[in-house]
Amino acid sequence: MAPVSRTSSPGATSDVAVDEEAGEVRRFWNRLGLPGLIDVHTHFMPERVLHKVWEYFDAQGPLTGGLEWPISYRQQEAERTAVLRKFGVRAFTSMLYPHKPGMARWLNGWAAEFAHRNPDCLHTATLYPEPGVETYVREAVEAGARVFKAHVQVGAYDPADELIQRAWGVLAEARVPVVIHCGSGPAPGKYTGPEPIAQVLARHPKLRLIVAHMGMPEYGDFLGIAEQYAEVRLDTTMTFTDFTEAFMPFPRHALPRLAGLGDRILLGSDFPNIPYPYAHQLHALERLGLGPEWLRAVCHDNAATLFGL
Ligand SMILES: [Zn+2]
Repeated sequence: MAPVSRTSSPGATSDVAVDEEAGEVRRFWNRLGLPGLIDVHTHFMPERVLHKVWEYFDAQGPLTGGLEWPISYRQQEAERTAVLRKFGVRAFTSMLYPHKPGMARWLNGWAAEFAHRNPDCLHTATLYPEPGVETYVREAVEAGARVFKAHVQVGAYDPADELIQRAWGVLAEARVPVVIHCGSGPAPGKYTGPEPIAQVLARHPKLRLIVAHMGMPEYGDFLGIAEQYAEVRLDTTMTFTDFTEAFMPFPRHALPRLAGLGDRILLGSDFPNIPYPYAHQLHALERLGLGPEWLRAVCHDNAATLFGL
């Protein structure tokens, strides 16, 4: 009999399925001659917060675009980190984000402790436009945070808000990248889209923004922003997959621009909150046909350079 994962919650993956998939993922990066993968967009957060997120996806809340979204990796935290290690993900992040004021400092404390327990996690922090943000962002940077997460859609704030400007300045100065969900997918927010980000960058041109989901669905606009600002990067999270192509397809005519930005595109997956196996994201990148050199840069080397790994 096949051993079954200890968690039997719906959507949980069995150990056998994980082992099979790990083989598939490892063959992918082995073929490319890589030492493994670096995934800049994975979600780890306090369990009760993560369970709330899962409940939201289960209920197909409005920010999911009302899409059916069965979470593929609904295990306990230690099992989820073990899955990434089985896949050969050498470094990952703990993307977490507040949806209201007064939460970010607490989340940052949790994330520092998580990174301490998991040395292969890049110490992650977050922020929100609120009094004191500059102080706790500076403290997180001094405590060793290597990447930040900002969620304009869930946070429902204007990233160009005056309250957050000095915090952007601290991050630009410290050259600490910020993965930012600022595109209007899977559903728009009040401040999503390229305009507020263009305003932020006009004031902080050296800010190392990593536009999550390639800016889905405003792909062309965000590619343009990356072409304009040398420190802007994009992550691949969920983009090019069958799931996303079905409702917010990446325009084929923009493929040469993807090739042109080959040194500033980073593998992201959204693990564990994805409605398909992890390997599908990798195959979705491969089938773009941009070649092994592009894949090596995107799946490992660009992030290794950015984070000094
Ligand atoms: Zn995400």
